[in-house]
Amino acid sequence: MTMLDANDRALVDGVLARQLRPLAKAITLIESQREDHKLRAQRVLEALLPHTGGAMRVGISGVPGVGKSTFIEALGLYLIEQGLRVAVLAVDPSSSLTGGSILGDKTRMEGLSQNPAAFIRPSPSACSLGGVAEKTRETMLVCEAAGFDVLIVETVGVGQSETAVAGMTDLFCLLQLPNAGDDLQAIKKGIMEMADLIVINKADLDPAAAMRAKAQIRTALHMLRPASPNWTVPVLTLSALKKDGIAEFWQAVSDYRRALTASGEFAARRRHQALAWMWELIDAGLRSRFRNHPQVKHDLPGLARAVEEGATTPTLAALRLLGDFQA
Ligand code: GDP
Repeated sequence: MTMLDANDRALVDGVLARQLRPLAKAITLIESQREDHKLRAQRVLEALLPHTGGAMRVGISGVPGVGKSTFIEALGLYLIEQGLRVAVLAVDPSSSLTGGSILGDKTRMEGLSQNPAAFIRPSPSACSLGGVAEKTRETMLVCEAAGFDVLIVETVGVGQSETAVAGMTDLFCLLQLPNAGDDLQAIKKGIMEMADLIVINKADLDPAAAMRAKAQIRTALHMLRPASPNWTVPVLTLSALKKDGIAEFWQAVSDYRRALTASGEFAARRRHQALAWMWELIDAGLRSRFRNHPQVKHDLPGLARAVEEGATTPTLAALRLLGDFQA
């Protein structure tokens, strides 16, 4: 165990005492790009680690406009009514460019953002999805140490961010529109395969269409290999706007947790996620060291050109550069 200085000790104690200011400060430290901050952040995290793991980690995805923030607001307020504390985080790799398209503006979840039992944090800005995911995972740990019972991680329905969020949560939920069954975009993109629970939102607009979509999605799910032998992915219809179906949603989450805990899969998924996270960091670290190695830097442009021009094979070029790296 590393020693903490007085400042960081106060930060850790504040987080453990469930104070929001130290929590926000710890997260800011985690998100900082400064090398000295990174080191401090790791020490703080190490001290918090024994107090983590207690929350239910829920990922929420769906295309813009499907109703994610309306749903998270309704769900969050419902959970708070049940006596739970809720943290909402976001993974939005585009936020570095756009200045934060999701959760950037707190008016999206007005009721929740004003509630003392809720904590809402917009997506960290980093240049890569890997960077955003990394910081979000660490922020999740800090939130758990601060005693939050439920962590909701929101992501936009584009790109690889779903895979990242499914890889850091216990349950991954996909929100669909009542007409989404028609083109089954989510199936094509392989997102449905990752879902542990599917919600058809806006069922109030056209209940019949929602039921049709439910049947279509169920049929589609039958064609996919189930991720767990102990869990059949439920398809729920819901209205986030009318707050209709929220209790049923949470019942399904609880059923999932019970079934997978009983089979040992719940803990196994977390172990697997922790190891995958470690390997992701090793891969990223090796790649960055490789690119910064002086001999690699010297030889890379010439060899890359030679590969492009067909003057050497990719295999030979790679072997030569890896040889540089070992030297
Ligand atoms: P997001 O982009 O996925 O976060 O979607 P929003 O939560 O911002 O919702 C987009 C629009 O759909 C807003 O105008 C919401 O009021 C509306 N909306 C969300 N959920 C429902 C619902 O269950 N029923 C209806 N009729 N409208 C909804």
